[in-house]
Amino acid sequence: MELAFDVVVVGGGHAGCEAAAIAAKMGSRTLLVSMDLTKLAQMSCNPAIGGIAKGQIVREIDALGGYTAKVTDLTTLHFRMLNQSKGPAMWSPRAQADRMLFSIEWRKYLESIPNLYLWQDEVIDLIVNENRVEGIITKTNQTVKCKTVVLTNGTFLNGKIHVGNVNFTGGRIGELNSQGLTERLVKLGFTTGRMKTGTPVRIDGRTVNYSKLTIQESQELSKFSFNPDYFSKLPRKHCYIVNTNQVVHNILREGFDQSPLFTGKIKGIGPRYCPSIEDKVHTFAEKTSHQLFLEPEGVFTYEMYLNGFSSSLPVDIQYKALKSIPGFENVHILRPGYAIEYDYFDPTQLKHTLETKIVQNLFFAGQINGTTGYEEAAGQGLIAGANAHLRANDIQENFQLSRDEAYIGVLIDDLVTKGVDEPYRMFTSRAEYRILIRQDNADERLTPIAAKYNMVDENDVKRLENKIKSIEELNQLVKEYSVSPSDINEYLTSNNSAKITQKRKLYDIVLRPEISLKPTLEHLKINIDSYDYEAINGAEIKIKYSGYIEKEKIIAEKINRLEHIKIPDDFDFNQLNSLSTEARIKLTSIKPKTIAQAKRIPGISPSDINVLLVYFGR
Ligand code: FAD
Repeated sequence: MELAFDVVVVGGGHAGCEAAAIAAKMGSRTLLVSMDLTKLAQMSCNPAIGGIAKGQIVREIDALGGYTAKVTDLTTLHFRMLNQSKGPAMWSPRAQADRMLFSIEWRKYLESIPNLYLWQDEVIDLIVNENRVEGIITKTNQTVKCKTVVLTNGTFLNGKIHVGNVNFTGGRIGELNSQGLTERLVKLGFTTGRMKTGTPVRIDGRTVNYSKLTIQESQELSKFSFNPDYFSKLPRKHCYIVNTNQVVHNILREGFDQSPLFTGKIKGIGPRYCPSIEDKVHTFAEKTSHQLFLEPEGVFTYEMYLNGFSSSLPVDIQYKALKSIPGFENVHILRPGYAIEYDYFDPTQLKHTLETKIVQNLFFAGQINGTTGYEEAAGQGLIAGANAHLRANDIQENFQLSRDEAYIGVLIDDLVTKGVDEPYRMFTSRAEYRILIRQDNADERLTPIAAKYNMVDENDVKRLENKIKSIEELNQLVKEYSVSPSDINEYLTSNNSAKITQKRKLYDIVLRPEISLKPTLEHLKINIDSYDYEAINGAEIKIKYSGYIEKEKIIAEKINRLEHIKIPDDFDFNQLNSLSTEARIKLTSIKPKTIAQAKRIPGISPSDINVLLVYFGR
């Protein structure tokens, strides 16, 4: 092996795969080192991609030239657009994917990228000279020189697995953990902490009595990638809904005295919004039932994932409790549920590019930054990989996204500005500009930016241009087209919409919440063969929500003015006596780049911001 690269990515999870792929695609000679190359982009927990707010991130990754959306489309078994009862700002795509094929498709893609090299090994040390990373050292004693390094170690750093009273080291069950790197990073001055996550049992689907479960069918409404060439040829599989009961809860309670969560063996902080079943039974003692989803793991296997039943109770308790759920009387378990504790690094030690503030040219992405979720990891991987490429090639630009441009922008700004006190996952409520950063317009927002950095192909840009043109044409059409009562009244009545009494523009009809654009155009026999789902859906959202979109743009522009008031990197906040002590400590530690970022730091008051505004001349 030629032991010199531009970019080295450590870890082949969701963050690492996106980081390595984009750096190589942008032109860097890139090495992806991972402990097991048969587990690239392995889904450690549920093989599901997307969901509320996470689906938006996946669409953004696609618009920026990443691969998570495409590989999901190739391996989808079940698809749903969540939150359709709410406005389109809240719509979120979610797919159940084939776990094994997902990893295989990622590997095929990585192997198709010129400049990208794979290497199976464990990175145990970093070569750092004068606060600049210059290479890595592996367990097989390889020294690899490089210009930039991206660390994406996931749940592997000093990972410790718990099942009841039993615990052992591992990065995921059945895999070794990673040792040495945390200690090295701490010596370099980084602050670390412990977090925890968990996963439920996997069961043999042939041992379930499905007649007692409720079917949740797949919808064929849409997909993730804006590129229509990626779609799943796999047969669709059902998901199922089932509920726990008091008997199940009582059996779970029998194991509480052996729960590593309750006996204090687990010290790491877990995700509050994604509790284990024992946590739910304990915290919501008055609830007699909890909803679970039984979801397929693949087309070549009967293995099923029991969403909502995450547990680190002893295996015999998990098994006994499971058998008391209707339909699971004869269930066979394939893998036990377990919890894992691992090291993460306080993300306020990072810049918006995900480069560390302590060591130059060293980047962190994914779960190592205190996040949880494949999508959050992949989004960070893409940003870190792009910036690692820029730094490796001495391009003095930063590839970063703002809060009004992308959920990925919100994610990274939250991490580096506020830090984390529990595993961070994305929610729509974290974004203040939800109407601007929707899943349907991720390409309009981001592909033009990505094109400037050679992250997307010419075809992506052309497809976007066609989409924008189609949306404009449709917009124009509904504004000009007049409908008479005889054309439309029967249709309106059948959609519970008020009749019209005189000719009206089609635009006024489509503005009605109960009226959808596509069936209306079809009813009026207007030929829409040349318009695809993305164009029609995009046009409808723009027509219906243009007022809200404009309002939010104005607010974003006002706030963005503060983004332009820069604070120098080496500014000494202690010289500003009027700042509160808390503000001085926090500003010195986080080193915000702009007044707007300073404003978002928890504990910085409006009067502190006024002090900064006065000092910086406003
Ligand atoms: P990972 O996917 O963990 O990948 C890390 C990669 O780095 C692996 O390929 C590993 O082999 C490699 N690696 C590590 N150290 C080294 C080294 N020193 N040298 C070389 N290679 C190395 N997320 C949710 O959103 N919801 C959940 O309910 C949930 N439950 C989970 C339950 C469990 C048991 C686990 C393990 C994870 C769970 N997750 C959950 C988290 C989800 O799996 C992660 O957020 C996501 O996989 C993070 O991606 P990543 O790329 O940062 O790291």
